[in-house]
Amino acid sequence: MKKISLVVPCYNEEESIPLFYRTVSKVIDSMNTPTPTVTPEYIFVDDGSSDHTLKEMKELHQSHPETVHYRSFSRNFGKESALAAGLQATTGELVAVMDVDLQDPPELLPKMFALIENEGYDCVGTIQKERRGQSKLRAFLSSSFYRVINKISDVRIEPNARDYRLMTRQFVDTVISLPEFNRFSKGIFSWVGFKTTYLTYESQPRAAGTTHWNLRQLFAYSIEGIIDFSNAPLRLATWVGSISFILSIFGLLFVIIRALTVGGAVAGWPSLVAIMLFIGGIQLFCLGILGQYINKIYLETKHRPKYIVREEK
Ligand code: UDP
Ligand code: MG
Repeated sequence: MKKISLVVPCYNEEESIPLFYRTVSKVIDSMNTPTPTVTPEYIFVDDGSSDHTLKEMKELHQSHPETVHYRSFSRNFGKESALAAGLQATTGELVAVMDVDLQDPPELLPKMFALIENEGYDCVGTIQKERRGQSKLRAFLSSSFYRVINKISDVRIEPNARDYRLMTRQFVDTVISLPEFNRFSKGIFSWVGFKTTYLTYESQPRAAGTTHWNLRQLFAYSIEGIIDFSNAPLRLATWVGSISFILSIFGLLFVIIRALTVGGAVAGWPSLVAIMLFIGGIQLFCLGILGQYINKIYLETKHRPKYIVREEK
């Protein structure tokens, strides 16, 4: 018998939780027939929900005190923190991370389990095929993000990979041991290495509730990923700065030589203003990039906890 821990981050998901438990238990039961192979351990993380999410978790815990556990945050800390808190609490030999909205099909679990048990993988991730009903703009932005980040970062970020994955204890312990405050899971899971394979599946509609991501948040998340796993923007800033510096030296030489030979031209002031604005713009751009990294350093050096647990069981 192997214990399999399921980490489930939940933010305002009162409707999904019972549905999730029912569906996943069925899959676990099917894995245990005819021979018992796995015992489940559910770790629900309530990410500061304002609805009855915690109540649903408590009810599940009361009816299944051995297998269902929960941790509830003091406020909303975001999915990355919820994942970290969930992983910290797991005790199973295998650990899965799953969304509660059933967009991560539990039916894949037996296949993922078999890949780890029989093929010796440390981690089985999942890739979602093109999202149905996703806008063209979103699809374009997301594919551009993966193209850019894979070009400039040292770790490979699998395009359209979900957080849904099954991992061995060793893999999870390594992930937990990374102390960083700014957590971009997609990067961390890939950075730690180990033998990883991916399964592909058709995207699923949400079982209940609505998504918590809007375009602005997705954009911020992409920037986070790039800043956390690449210093290419810093190199870009250096390059842009150097090139504009060299160009302005040539410009100055030109102006001086012209003043000495044919005489100065007062009429040139509009172009001068344009150049000043151009260089000023580049400087602000580079300062902005620098600021992003300094902000990250600032957040890391404060050594604040990634989350605060209000109650757990
Ligand atoms: N989630 C969370 N904290 C948040 C936002 C989301 O724990 O601040 C959880 C949410 O309850 C769900 C999972 O993260 O289980 C994925 O969220 P969602 O379904 O909104 O994202 P999508 O599937 O649309 O990418
Ligand atoms: Mg979802």
